[in-house]
Amino acid sequence: MSKPDKNLSILERYPEDTREAAALLKQAVPLMMRHGIPPNPLHYALWYTYSQGQVPDLNRRLDKIVTDFDSFPAEVAVKLFRDYVIRNELEEARAGQQQVIELADTIEDGIALSVTGSHNYQASLQQGLSALQEPIIDDLPNVLNDLQQSTQLMQEQQEKFLYRIRAAQNEIQHLRGQLERAHVAATLDSLTQVFNRHAFTRLMEQALTGEHQGIALVMLDIDHFKQFNDQYGHPLGDRVLQHVGQLLRDALPPRATAARYGGEEFCIILRECSDTQSAHAFAEGLREKIQSLRIKVRRTDQVLDSISASFGYALAIPGDTLESLLTRADDALYQAKHSGRNQVQPEPRATATSA
Ligand code: GH3
Ligand code: MG
Ligand code: MG
Repeated sequence: MSKPDKNLSILERYPEDTREAAALLKQAVPLMMRHGIPPNPLHYALWYTYSQGQVPDLNRRLDKIVTDFDSFPAEVAVKLFRDYVIRNELEEARAGQQQVIELADTIEDGIALSVTGSHNYQASLQQGLSALQEPIIDDLPNVLNDLQQSTQLMQEQQEKFLYRIRAAQNEIQHLRGQLERAHVAATLDSLTQVFNRHAFTRLMEQALTGEHQGIALVMLDIDHFKQFNDQYGHPLGDRVLQHVGQLLRDALPPRATAARYGGEEFCIILRECSDTQSAHAFAEGLREKIQSLRIKVRRTDQVLDSISASFGYALAIPGDTLESLLTRADDALYQAKHSGRNQVQPEPRATATSA
């Protein structure tokens, strides 16, 4: 049975860029509609994978289900999703749990052994003490000998236990490393190495719900990027995105966090910012830096100096949700595009009040 490649993580299994992913969705959605399959994330994932065509077994099963049933049973969808989409992730989680259980067992065995050793030692000591209290101590050499042997045994057991604890510590360290790597992979955008949209959403929601001293959301979108791709090719377009990612990572102060929100669109959470002037100056600084980017075309040695981005920003107001703040920043970005690109625009609200 051809299940997903065992060694591929879910991110690696869906390596498509925005354009390819959109093309796959364009195939998947009509298929779902044709078979009357309700649109939900589970079904999207299944039919997207179907359109990818890399798991023939899944395709056969989906084909069979839509011929055999009038509807698409929800429990079958859940099972297929588990078996073909997130199977490796489930297995990894199970393996991790198993390792932790085994570690706990080892430590428990060690402790049990050490406790038994201590009891035996205590018994020997008591025996020795009673013998010493006897008026006749002819037996003293034997008593001392027994005591010495018990001490030795106990020492050996404790050394073994220590050895196991150290092995467990190494194992825990290893597991922690694995966990950290998995965490990074799940929060970073692989192309630009800034946070991905999922992480951005979480961070922004945390920022908005917690106590804060002002939050600005800055959105930027690279100008005429489609044209850039058409003229210089997608791989060079990818390099531009990588440069922008690097620039954001290098240029941002600790109170700011950058994320790739979508294709050529980035969002920056700027904390401790409660006034339009500082948000504007911040975005303007980034705009200038992007405009100063110089990218060399490796094949021709030509240096490209025409990259620019448009910026929109909004300041959080009480009661703002991620969605309401995003909408205002996006409106501002739209205004920046509409007014000629390569510029920074505040949210409409700020324009209205300052006018
Ligand atoms: P505008 O100035 O109005 O923003 O124009 P635009 O061409 O940048 O905007 P549009 O939304 O029409 O096109 C966005 C382009 O970004 C289209 C798509 O091919 C490109 N793009 C999205 N993601 C990636 C990516 O990961 N790599 C590359 N190379 N291009 C991408
Ligand atoms: Mg865009
Ligand atoms: Mg664009």
